[in-house]
Amino acid sequence: MVGASAARPMAVASLQNVGRRTLATSRPSLISKARPAARATFDRTTLRQSFRRSYADDVINPAVKAKAKRGSWFALKWLWRLTYLSAIAGTGWVAYGIYESRHPADQADPDSNKKTLVILGTGWGSVSLLKKLDTENYNVVIISPRNYFLFTPLLPSCTTGTIEHRSIMEPVRNFLRHKKAAVTFYEADATKIDYEKKIVYINDGSDVKGATSSNEVPFDMLVVGVGAENATFGRSGRSHDDT
Ligand SMILES: Cc1cc2nc3c(=O)[nH]c(=O)nc-3n(C[C@H](O)[C@H](O)[C@H](O)COP(=O)(O)OP(=O)(O)OC[C@H]3O[C@@H](n4cnc5c(N)ncnc54)[C@H](O)[C@@H]3O)c2cc1C
Repeated sequence: MVGASAARPMAVASLQNVGRRTLATSRPSLISKARPAARATFDRTTLRQSFRRSYADDVINPAVKAKAKRGSWFALKWLWRLTYLSAIAGTGWVAYGIYESRHPADQADPDSNKKTLVILGTGWGSVSLLKKLDTENYNVVIISPRNYFLFTPLLPSCTTGTIEHRSIMEPVRNFLRHKKAAVTFYEADATKIDYEKKIVYINDGSDVKGATSSNEVPFDMLVVGVGAENATFGRSGRSHDDT
């Protein structure tokens, strides 16, 4: 038993040696990698000559230098041309836009063969529809006590004096005069709608009135965009009419 236990460590040591030897002999590349690499040596004379040669080439061949210079000058010239051409085109485009807005094309008159579309109100809903509407397809009539569109999100800035009221009001005429066909506008309140007879009753409640202040407007299609009124719960001084 004692002899066997003493022989076991020796067997283990010899096995380890075998393992090491096998690795070392089977992969000689590992040995070479483990050795430090030889220091790189430069032939100073060759290096110096190569520098001199490239410098000398430049001096001898100035055409290369000139070509590179010409290339960058060419790019700069075209960049400048593009800049001023874009500036001219931009100015022309803005000028044309201004001219077009001031000189709208002639509009087609209402046609009795077309259906009549009546739009009530000139708020967000009605104006959004108006902007997209092709007025050539219908005889369009707008009825509203306000002849302008009000940009409500900026109303609080008017109360603090940051913005003037007129800056957030856009006359509906600005949209209407650029439509292909003419649009009729009544500055009045719609007081009643008769869906059976397809008639809207209107009344001009403003201070400036014409000879007739009430009228009836027939329609084939009706868009109601009169918004909503706040509930004042009977408290005085809260509604628009109280001011
Ligand atoms: C101060 C303020 C800030 C707001 N800010 C925002 C915001 O930041 N974002 C947002 O999404 N919403 C905002 N809103 C809400 C938004 O303005 C309304 O939701 C929107 O105006 C509703 O659009 P509308 O077309 O239904 O009605 P309105 O825009 O109120 O338009 C109603 C139109 O109908 C006309 N009219 C009224 N009575 C008659 C009648 N009898 N006959 C014919 N025409 C009539 C009116 O003159 C008006 O032209 C704000 C509202 C206010 C007051």
